[in-house]
Amino acid sequence: MRTARMKGGNDMYKCGKCGAKIAKLLPETAIRCPACSNKILYKERAPVAKEIKAR
Ligand SMILES: [Zn+2]
Repeated sequence: MRTARMKGGNDMYKCGKCGAKIAKLLPETAIRCPACSNKILYKERAPVAKEIKAR
């Protein structure tokens, strides 16, 4: 058996209207904001520490 759930990791989405964060649970399901039912969501990556060159 294949474990398709492990693919892609845990994506986070941010509502474009109220800014609420939504965790994508089901890949095949259309996600919407639970707070304001907005469908326009921005994909948000996990916070990554950027490497900045100090001068
Ligand atoms: Zn919202």
